[in-house]
Amino acid sequence: MNILVIGAGGREHALCWALARSPVCEALFCAPGNGGTAELAHSVSLDLADHQAIIDFCRSMAIGLVVIGPEQPLVAGLVDDLARAGIKAFGPSALAARLEGSKGFTKDLCAKYHIPTAAYRRFHDADAARIYARQQPLPLVIKADGLAAGKGVIIADSHRQAEAAIDDILGGQFGEAGAELVIEAFLEGEEVSFFALCDGERAISFGNAQDHKRVGDGDQGPNTGGMGAYSPAPIFDAALEDEVMAKIIAPTLAAMKAEGCPYKGVLYAGLMITAEGPKLIEYNARFGDPECQVLMMRLASDLVPLLLASIDGTLGDQKPRWHEDAALTIVMAAKGYPGPYEKGTVIKGLDKAALMEGVEIFHAGTRSTPAGEVLAHGGRVLNIAATGKSVTAAQARAYAAIREIDWPQGFCRSDIGWRAIRR
Ligand code: ATP
Repeated sequence: MNILVIGAGGREHALCWALARSPVCEALFCAPGNGGTAELAHSVSLDLADHQAIIDFCRSMAIGLVVIGPEQPLVAGLVDDLARAGIKAFGPSALAARLEGSKGFTKDLCAKYHIPTAAYRRFHDADAARIYARQQPLPLVIKADGLAAGKGVIIADSHRQAEAAIDDILGGQFGEAGAELVIEAFLEGEEVSFFALCDGERAISFGNAQDHKRVGDGDQGPNTGGMGAYSPAPIFDAALEDEVMAKIIAPTLAAMKAEGCPYKGVLYAGLMITAEGPKLIEYNARFGDPECQVLMMRLASDLVPLLLASIDGTLGDQKPRWHEDAALTIVMAAKGYPGPYEKGTVIKGLDKAALMEGVEIFHAGTRSTPAGEVLAHGGRVLNIAATGKSVTAAQARAYAAIREIDWPQGFCRSDIGWRAIRR
């Protein structure tokens, strides 16, 4: 089978890595791909907003499966358009992707179907939002309704900060994504990511992970797309998994079906484990990046039949197998990230690092030159992933590999996995 992966990050490199191992994968393509995917898949230059161009490419290359990494094409209806053209694509329809694309939609769904989440109100009007915010206890969470690349969430420690966030969002700082906002109560607890593969009717567990969103050690500094992750999360035992499945994931699948938009694809639940049990923070309609990397490192089963079963509605026959080992990934970013940073700097030592036992290097913002050099081409540039008997062992391997990498213009956190290691 010929397979096309859509996207250009560490997530898509990890997906290519897992798909390339499948005995049913014949030719692998990645659009647009990066310096790392280029070693496993043919890079294809396609405008991801031009669905007809993607359909034409799939037809010309007899693509049997399209795997969509990022959220924008899902929310824009790429799966719907491919399905209409008779091409199998892994991921939710545009209507189902509203679970990620509209925080207000998800909050209303949770309220209607009694899915545990933080108390909330939706607002279009800044005056009404300010009056409500002033009456709420602190801290208070203010969120732009739509996709804002992880930047549309403000945790306000004062009412003045809450009002400023309301003005920023409804004042147009996030464009269309901020035409509406959600104000919600702050949840106390430990955060964990849970993944379920869904086929419209059924959901099966597809592992869990914890990530580090802040740029600095000790989880300090500004938020980023993620600076590292590990799986499994020690807090996530079998009892908690059963509870999350029963109280959050299964009711969501039933609710989406009842609302006429059955959910297929991977459902990524951002959860807070509170004193009252697990509560939903948010849904994402795709794999997380970097979390996808550690899931793919641990997956022992062939990925292709699992993704096809999600599309075909036959997940009931599938039971993914996992390696016992833990996996951990560390992001190397260009100095300055998440602010301005330099592009085009040369990265050396990757071959030596990649040869170390249990280590895989997943590229994100890289570009390879015809001479074989690897250049930094983005904010988050490389992911150094490793497996080990424990998170501690995987962490030691990943940092040992990083010491082999010669890239003076890059940096990484020195404490990825600290919460699991401290336990
Ligand atoms: P991302 O795209 O990075 O996953 P997002 O913009 O979709 O993020 P959320 O995941 O809803 O937004 O929120 C971002 C972060 O803010 C969460 O990971 C969590 O740490 C924090 N957060 C959001 N809502 C709450 C809440 N109600 N209580 C406590 N913390 C929260």
